[in-house]
Amino acid sequence: MINKDTLDKILSRVEKPARYIGNEINSYNKNTKEVKVRFAFAFPDIYEVGMSHLGLHILYNLLNKEEDVFCERVFAPWVDMEHELRKYNIPLYALESKDPINEFDFVGFTLQYEMSYTNVLNMLNLAHIPLLSKDRKEGDPFIIAGGPCAYNPEPLADIIDFFVIGESEELILEIIEIYKKWKENNRTREEFLEDVSQIQGVYVPKFYEVTYNQDGTIKEFRPKTDKYPSVIKKRIIKNLDEVYFPDRVIVPYIETVHDRVMLEIFRGCTRGCRFCQAGMIYRPVRERSVDRLLDYAQKLVEITGHEEISLSSLSTSDYSKLEELVKSLIDKFKDKKIGLSLPSLRLDSFSLDIIQEIQKVRKTGLTFAPEAGSQRLRDIINKGINEEDLINSVRDAFYLGWSTVKLYFMIGLPYENYDDILGIKDLAYKVKDTYFGLPKDKRKGNLKVTVSTSCFVPKPFTPFQWFGQDTIETFKEKQRYLGSSIKDKKITYNFHDPELSFLEAVFARGDRRLSKALIIAWQKGCKFDGWADYFNYEKWKEAFRETEIDPSFYANRHREYDEVLPWDFIDVGVSKKYLIKENEKAKEGILTRDCRKGCTGCGINISFTGGVC
Ligand code: SF4
Repeated sequence: MINKDTLDKILSRVEKPARYIGNEINSYNKNTKEVKVRFAFAFPDIYEVGMSHLGLHILYNLLNKEEDVFCERVFAPWVDMEHELRKYNIPLYALESKDPINEFDFVGFTLQYEMSYTNVLNMLNLAHIPLLSKDRKEGDPFIIAGGPCAYNPEPLADIIDFFVIGESEELILEIIEIYKKWKENNRTREEFLEDVSQIQGVYVPKFYEVTYNQDGTIKEFRPKTDKYPSVIKKRIIKNLDEVYFPDRVIVPYIETVHDRVMLEIFRGCTRGCRFCQAGMIYRPVRERSVDRLLDYAQKLVEITGHEEISLSSLSTSDYSKLEELVKSLIDKFKDKKIGLSLPSLRLDSFSLDIIQEIQKVRKTGLTFAPEAGSQRLRDIINKGINEEDLINSVRDAFYLGWSTVKLYFMIGLPYENYDDILGIKDLAYKVKDTYFGLPKDKRKGNLKVTVSTSCFVPKPFTPFQWFGQDTIETFKEKQRYLGSSIKDKKITYNFHDPELSFLEAVFARGDRRLSKALIIAWQKGCKFDGWADYFNYEKWKEAFRETEIDPSFYANRHREYDEVLPWDFIDVGVSKKYLIKENEKAKEGILTRDCRKGCTGCGINISFTGGVC
């Protein structure tokens, strides 16, 4: 354990010391001498962000249910705390025991966002753990990683000892079992990696080698020997009702991003938006039953005291029993004044009934994601909604008393032109006109329309994975064009930083050669890249220059179907053939139906047998 007096001294000097003290209600504390496995769940961002992540609560509780396993938490310390830790040479410690995480058996990072990679390095360094997998010795913890970014693990191949591909709660206990046996038998680090490499869903990068063509593209990716699988197949849970879901959740002392009960109602999505990685990698759709959800809600409200329940999923309105669930939840909690939030509602199935039900309790802002400004482009991306849907939903909402609307779009989508961009402005103006089209006595509040545009990032395992991203200059030009076309005080325009989105695209479609640039960028001081105040693109440019890596090779280059992609060795169940077919349909603006209305042949039901679709 680190020195308590020094820690107290430090904590009195940093902003929000509650980020670093642990001991919150429902957190675990175990006798570290009595457990066999110590696991540090590492979130490469600050406490408030990490504590809002449902996956943390699931894995934390799942592991701690095992008597001989102690899972603790560690977050990226904010810069003031980092300064103090370095000044007093205190290694990064876990919140529960305050022991340095370099004494643990595992440090498991969740990779939610490519721009957290420098924080992974920073945390390893703060923990006095070698950055490169090859430099770790017997006795060092195993550094593992999972989460959505692990579906292209290659940019971190030199850093992470092994990746977990798919839904970690399905295989984490298998890894722990193998570890316990390995530890009892006093075998080598290498032997443990050999053992876990045999588990479906585990990828150990050091057992694979890559060769390159002269033009820099990948020639071949293969296991070093045939002991290792040539394809890593993701792991999924088949029945969400049977899988573990925590009925206790830590309640932080300080406000976090989401201070509410998060109820995961289903996984997967059948809509098939062509830009959306989550919609492909989390297939197939698996729902939780209403009874099970009501039961969890009851327990979690009681044990946390939260005053809001949020229904979490990729597309909440697609839950087949949404109305029944919402009505039952409201009924159950109306006396306790528990609010209900339904993020990720879609326009086309936006039910007036449901809005009315939510309104009985509490009213929050409305968020819609048309994604593209024109019907032509919405068809290209297979968004499957039309303007009438949006306007009708918005009108209904205005009648019911809402006056704040947020509209999310992307710019730089494949086959976009300037008319599509102008369509964003037109849609925002139509929303405004809808409000003022209401009789005066029906308009409540003050209208506020916020238009936000993010920059399209081509992601692995999507039909647009081959598409080159717009350059930073083009993004800026498009943002200027849209910004100057919006001249109404009721409409605010926000946009994402194109430089950040460019880097996201570099790492999203990157390969293992990028590790070098990542390390240099971190050495130059890059961290918290996802935070506007800390993002320093100039340092990144220097890092690429010094490592002679051309980042646009990864971000802006169109790829051919026959190119070997860095993530081709991972099997997510959705076939490449299907992705190609979808990309070809996009070019023609041909829609693909929601596969709940009939299978469209993505392939997941072939690779993942067991009647999941
Ligand atoms: S196999 Fe068919 S039904 Fe299942 S997710 Fe794929 S397209 Fe949809």
